[in-house]
This record gives sequence, C-alpha cells and structure tokens, in this order.
Amino acid sequence: MEIIKTVAEMSRWVQEQRTKGHTLALVPTMGFFHEGHLSLMRRAGELVDRVIVSLFVNPSQFAAHEDLDAYPRAFARDAALAEAEGVAVLFCPEVDDIYPPGFQTTVAVSELTSKLCGKSRPHHFAGVTTVVAKLFNIVAPQYAVFGEKDFQQLAVIRRMVRDLNMQVSLVGHAIVREKDGLAMSSRNAYLSKAERRQALCLWHALQEAKALVQAGERHSGRVAKRVRDVLLAHGPCQIDYIELVNRDTLERSSTIDHRVLLALAVRIGTTRLIDNACLLHGGDKNV
Ligand code: AMP
Repeated sequence: MEIIKTVAEMSRWVQEQRTKGHTLALVPTMGFFHEGHLSLMRRAGELVDRVIVSLFVNPSQFAAHEDLDAYPRAFARDAALAEAEGVAVLFCPEVDDIYPPGFQTTVAVSELTSKLCGKSRPHHFAGVTTVVAKLFNIVAPQYAVFGEKDFQQLAVIRRMVRDLNMQVSLVGHAIVREKDGLAMSSRNAYLSKAERRQALCLWHALQEAKALVQAGERHSGRVAKRVRDVLLAHGPCQIDYIELVNRDTLERSSTIDHRVLLALAVRIGTTRLIDNACLLHGGDKNV
C-alpha cells in the first residue's frame, strides 16, 4: 500500500492508473478505523481494481466548539488495517494542501442540510460537501463508498453529485454494529464505561420502534413518543432529535412506510451519537 501525503502526488498516481486502464473507488474517512470503515473498504474492493482511502480530519466540518482537536487519531494502526484490506493508497493530505492560502470556495447543498443534524450543526455539511467535492476532483473515482450510519451525509452527497453532474457512482453500506448493537463510531472512544452501557439506549430504542411497527403501529408520533421513553429510561441524556423522515427527501413523515427511516441523535455525557433504521422490511438489515 502506498501512503500519499500530497494532492500533487495523488493526482500523478491517479493519472498513472488511468493510463493503465485501472478502475478506482474512493472511501473518504477521518481515520481511527473500526470494522465499519473496513467494511466500506472491502465493498469498494469488490467494485474496482484499486481502492483509495482518504484519511483527512476535515477542520471545515467542525464548529469552533466541537471536537476537532480531540478527534481520535491512530495513524500507524490505521495504515496497517487499510493495508491488510488490500487498499492501494492511503491518501492523507495536510490541511494546508487541501485549503491553501486564499481558498474561498464552498460547495453547499441547501434544503437537505437544514434538517436533522443540520439544525444543531449548521455549517457541518458545507464542510463535508466541499471536501468531498475536492476529493472527487482529485481522485476522479468511478465509485465512492459511504456508510448509511451517516445517512443524511449520504443523502446530501447524492444530491450534490446529481446537481453538479459529477461522474461518480455512490454506494451506500449498511451500518456495522458492535455485538451488542451499538453502531460503530470513532467517537465511541470518548465514552466512559458507564456511558458505553448507556449508549445502548439508541439500539434499544430502534428495536422497540421496530417491534411497534411490526405489531401494526404506523403513526410516527406514537412511535417517537415510545422511542423517547426508551432513550430516557437508560439514564439522563440530551435528545437532539427523534425524527421519522423519508429517507430520500428527509421530510418528516406522519405515517410509517418502507421509505421512512427513524433517525436519532443523542448526547450521552459530552459525546453526540447518531443512529438510524428503517422500521419496515426492505430497510436496514442490521436492525
Ligand atoms: P468517518 O471516519 O466517521 O468520517 O466515517 C467514514 C465513513 O465510514 C463514512 O462514510 C461513514 O458513514 C462510514 N461509517 C462510520 N461508521 C460506520 C458504521 N458503523 N457502519 C458503516 N459505515 C460507517
């Protein structure tokens, strides 16, 4: 596996691969790999000849009060894990190379980013779409693989790709979970032992919602109320949102059908966790 640290070198490598006729897939990440990231890499490897994993903790998607400095980093371990997955290149550019002096362009999707996580993180998605657009331009991959854990991010990137006629096919990957159901996340590293136990409230809430819907419930308000009760039954937490939305438009849905997704954002201590599931079959296989 090659470790490439500059945009110029990455562009040269991509050019070389194109000349050889190789197909490319990109997996954008912020590192501190877990099985969720590794599954995305494996999926990418099924699609193309060469997988590029970007590892860039993107400052522009963090607000000033958020955890940019504290974000967990483990470069040597990440490199070893990516190499073991057969990744061709780990692309880890410096911040100044991605945002050189004078940088002033933003790629922003409007409506979809005003909902859900966008309400409490108003600048987050513009940071994401700008850096992902840059990565797509640098790598020009045929495919890019994203996790459905960040389903709003995937919906926003899908919109950007459609709106700007970007020549990349997006692939969503199901949420990868710990044995007990907690969705894997680099931010789980922040949780104390007690918080880790309490964090299962998200999984239990999704399970409870699914059971209600399987028993015939189709009223979103009643499901949301039960979900709130389950979340709070595990201990004090700050509920950012409990939303039942159409998975494509992210519009609230008052009744539940197979396009409706239950999305949760909950703060346990200082750690903000998100999770989601489709409540009717045809949705998330992990729930
Ligand atoms: P991150 O490093 O957290 O920015 O995540 C990089 C990519 O991995 C994103 O596309 C995430 O949606 C995806 N990802 C993170 N956690 C999971 C998970 N538990 N299951 C599947 N994909 C995930």
